[in-house]
Amino acid sequence: MNILIFGPNGSGKGTQSSLIKDKYELAHIESGAIFREHINKRTPLGLKAKNYISRGELVPDELTIPMVTDILESLSNWLLDGFPRNKTQAEKLWQALRDREIELSFIVEIQLAQELAKQRIMGRRICKKSPHHPNNINIEAIYPINGKCRVCGSELDTRKDDQDEAAIDQRLQVYYDTEEGTLAAVNYYQKLSSSGNFYHIILDGNKKIEVLKDELITKIEEKY
Ligand SMILES: [Zn+2]
Repeated sequence: MNILIFGPNGSGKGTQSSLIKDKYELAHIESGAIFREHINKRTPLGLKAKNYISRGELVPDELTIPMVTDILESLSNWLLDGFPRNKTQAEKLWQALRDREIELSFIVEIQLAQELAKQRIMGRRICKKSPHHPNNINIEAIYPINGKCRVCGSELDTRKDDQDEAAIDQRLQVYYDTEEGTLAAVNYYQKLSSSGNFYHIILDGNKKIEVLKDELITKIEEKY
């Protein structure tokens, strides 16, 4: 089973990814890990990519796409997370999958309004004792208790990145751009799915983690 997953930061994509990865024993491939793997193994593509990264430049699609497909081709069950980020990459990735006869089973899209995604990012509170205690002042289900961690009662903190409103807006803008950005990529795959190439599963990111997980599994098992 091979899956592409999409969702803005704040939509719970990371949580859902790790839940289905465990259930279906998928290799969870995140965009950052693709570069690291190629660079650590010193592949020709990785060495070229490293030059761009060390100059602080973006790695061009001509390198990124084959790096991604090399990794996907070497695995039998995968979940690709955080790639493609835009429409151009989506088209090139699809072509590369076709060329190498790699099957795609599902694309999963977690939908959430941009303003809500922003509120959730800014509402995150970090437990000083454990990174695995989720607290968020903008999500009722994980609201802190008396201003302290709802799991262990420790002090809470914020992450600097989560409070940088301009940077958050900029990142979300790339995701919600339906002309060239990530949502344009999703729409491109939506059209391909309607021609029967794979299934497009849409989830409502407003729902609770457990409900989303159950819906996702039900929808996968209906089709797979
Ligand atoms: Zn805690």
